[in-house]
Amino acid sequence: MVVDTPLANGDPTDPAFPSEQPPIPIQTPVIIKSVKVSPPKEEPTVEKTSIWNWLLFLPILTILPFYLSKLHYTLPEPLPPHDSNGDPQPSESLILGHIESLENIGYRTVGTRESVLGEQYVVDEVMKLLDQCEGSEVLRCESWTQQGSGFHSFDILDHEVLKAYNGITNIILKISSVNPPSSNSSVLIPDQSQSQSPSQKKDAILLGSHIDSTLPSPGAADDGMGVGVMLDIARVMVERNRPFDGSVIFMWNGGEGKPRPDDAELIAHQVRAMINLEAAGSTGGALLFQATSKEMIEAYSHAPHPRGTVIAADVFSSGIMMSDTDFVQFEKYLGVSGLDMATVGHSYFYHTKKDSIKYIEAGSAQHFANNIIAIVDHLTSPTSPLLQSEPFSPPNMVYFSLFDQIFVHWPIDASMPYYTALATLVVVLSVKHLSSKRWKAFLSSLIGTPLGMLGGAAAANLLAAVLRLSGKGQIWFRHEHLPLLIYVPAGYIGTFLTQLLLSKVLSPISRSQLESTYYSAQTLFLASLMILLQIANIRSAYLFAFLSTLLVFGSFSNEVLRMLGIGSKVEGMNIKSTYLIPLVGFAALAVEAITTTLDIFTPLAGRMGKDAPAEHIIATISSTSAFIFFPTFIPLFHRVPRSTQRKVVLALSLFLAGVLTALAGPWYWPYDAMHPKRVGVQYLYNHTSGEHTGHVAFMDQGPTRDIVSTIHTKFGQEDSEVVNTKLTDYDSDWDVIYPISSFIDTYKFPIAPETKEDKEFEWPTMGFYTQEVKWEYGMRELRLRFDFNGLVWPTLAFEAAVLRWSFDIPPPVEKMRHHIKVATSIDEHTQDLNLTLRMDEGERMYIHWSAVDLNQMVPGTASRLGPNMPASKWLTAIDEWADSEYGGSLEIMMNGVVCGVIEV
Ligand SMILES: [Zn+2]
Repeated sequence: MVVDTPLANGDPTDPAFPSEQPPIPIQTPVIIKSVKVSPPKEEPTVEKTSIWNWLLFLPILTILPFYLSKLHYTLPEPLPPHDSNGDPQPSESLILGHIESLENIGYRTVGTRESVLGEQYVVDEVMKLLDQCEGSEVLRCESWTQQGSGFHSFDILDHEVLKAYNGITNIILKISSVNPPSSNSSVLIPDQSQSQSPSQKKDAILLGSHIDSTLPSPGAADDGMGVGVMLDIARVMVERNRPFDGSVIFMWNGGEGKPRPDDAELIAHQVRAMINLEAAGSTGGALLFQATSKEMIEAYSHAPHPRGTVIAADVFSSGIMMSDTDFVQFEKYLGVSGLDMATVGHSYFYHTKKDSIKYIEAGSAQHFANNIIAIVDHLTSPTSPLLQSEPFSPPNMVYFSLFDQIFVHWPIDASMPYYTALATLVVVLSVKHLSSKRWKAFLSSLIGTPLGMLGGAAAANLLAAVLRLSGKGQIWFRHEHLPLLIYVPAGYIGTFLTQLLLSKVLSPISRSQLESTYYSAQTLFLASLMILLQIANIRSAYLFAFLSTLLVFGSFSNEVLRMLGIGSKVEGMNIKSTYLIPLVGFAALAVEAITTTLDIFTPLAGRMGKDAPAEHIIATISSTSAFIFFPTFIPLFHRVPRSTQRKVVLALSLFLAGVLTALAGPWYWPYDAMHPKRVGVQYLYNHTSGEHTGHVAFMDQGPTRDIVSTIHTKFGQEDSEVVNTKLTDYDSDWDVIYPISSFIDTYKFPIAPETKEDKEFEWPTMGFYTQEVKWEYGMRELRLRFDFNGLVWPTLAFEAAVLRWSFDIPPPVEKMRHHIKVATSIDEHTQDLNLTLRMDEGERMYIHWSAVDLNQMVPGTASRLGPNMPASKWLTAIDEWADSEYGGSLEIMMNGVVCGVIEV
């Protein structure tokens, strides 16, 4: 039965309600229940909202966010190498020059000639700086390279990754002053006799970036930008020829990745803190991802274009980013704190062939370099924390930036008194609702607030599930903020429906109170989140403090106006002070937070893999942030009559239906050349079985159209089957990209080599030598040497109970599958591995190996080194097909891969 009454809160159709406008005829038939509707003793009078007041919302919700987002994306002007006084300054044009030179070398994938040439470029540039520094009586420049070998390990989403490397070069440049201006600067190292470097003090800031690029990428932003910024910072310091305190160590490493433990040892006794320069995108400013000590957060506050909030650090530490940057390795091996900074805008081209200089935004490099030089200048000033002997403090600091203009930071403990006072004020302002006449509405609001958020998230996730299951996942992929058009309306439909249902049981008088009780309940809700997070020591609590403060301002000014007799007779709240003024603050926070979050997560969804709930993550972020950042929308909803409330829900539904019609129809392909779908294609030759197979893989849950079936029919063996493979740790098909191989959706079919040359083609293979050291009491000691001549990105996989190995973690006790990713250089392509295994006499172990053929990477090396080789031809043909059919909306990683099994 429909229970409804035309006497709903302030409904102008209420005959008892004084209305200046003519009564609006009731559109829908209203069934008046046979209960006695007794006229309220006190008339529920509600403040009227004039059309002009409603119109005031428009600029705050349109022009202001537009202007703020412009501000958010504004970058500094690119600067020339010297300012008007002739003083050196970081210069974008020089940085882009370095990036261009590196890109022109080719894809600097570890194991290729290009990777060695990239290292050589940096060595040459460093030599130029050394020459310039040579005659200086002010500065001392030292440089050395390390060609290291070693082992290390890390975890990505519970997958053990072991890394062995050999012949990978690190280039190091240290700049210090002959006579540092401050005399308090020395922290002498007791024993430095082992050191290859003449340095004596542990007072260095280390800047790190990597020269190599990943497969298949020219690595312009990742990490040409970091390499270029560091070269230019070094140039500025050398050209300035000015004494400074402490010292600066630049370290360019040759393997995506990690400083080797031996490097760490060599420089660890000099380094006090580090800054990692990375990229996961090619536009916008450099974002501060992590800051791991109080001193380094303070150092960051000197950046002229601060961009970063502790929320990013909180999100990052949750592990959801699936990322393992050099930063973590640096921290681990050097045992120092630091800053992790990365350019992250337009992350759609990250680790693809489009990570090219032509997509780097003007101002991005300048933004990065301006920030780095300011931080370095602070760290080499007389007040630098590098000069103090006390250990750095833990990062118990709340920090955030606003629109690249201001950076605010304070100790987390200092928040508590303010948060407590704020929470108390929130409670005091809510007490009036406990009166006998208002408690029902208040109770309903207290329940309705969290339920409203859950209702919103539930509706958004329901829609996400429907889209995903009907093959319409990721229809929002083409723009970072497109998810908002789908999941914000969906979320508000859920939230408002919850409100309509809950308020149904209330009397008209109680309903007329809902506006102000919800205003209080929202404030209590956000203040509770603030207190809970603060107690859990989660620094992001500050955000809820901000939101609560704006709401408290609203409630408080409303009370003051009441006391002054303005609107004291009416229910409801003063629209200007309670809604419009706080809304300006909400809009500012929302623009900053939602753009930053979605700029990372929307493109990330394109590479999250088949199992990650990408659609639901995006739905939850969009719907929940709309709820959290606009807490006044619920009280505002209760300000309008019930009939209008229904119209609002209807309007949202119609809007959503329109958006879905446009984006979920068969006419819409959610990818384009600027926002491509990631696909992996490989031609695999198995040395052990002699099989040739084709493999197609997807990294997201978006539509796949006819990609697999067409590649199979056009390029697979005739009359063969295509299989959707379920890869486990025991399948080696995609081991070259382990552990990503565990997250991708893969397909496989046989290939028949056509020509005689193709059939007789000699595929490169892995050489190996074993030396049995000892085999007694079920313990087998084995020395292995592998030769990866002509191979790139080799991976070894084997199942064994390992007792001892070369890695820096103790081997797990049980028998399990291990994966070793090997990085070798083109000039030094062997890798040794010593293992002690639990094996019975005579038992055999099988090692599955796979690697990319150096000559058959498309577009990396194939056209130059092996255009007529079987995989090159096959992949190039697929590339041409994809280009003509999909016009750049597919970003395909294409490699000829060889694999095999050896028995030891
Ligand atoms: Zn990188």
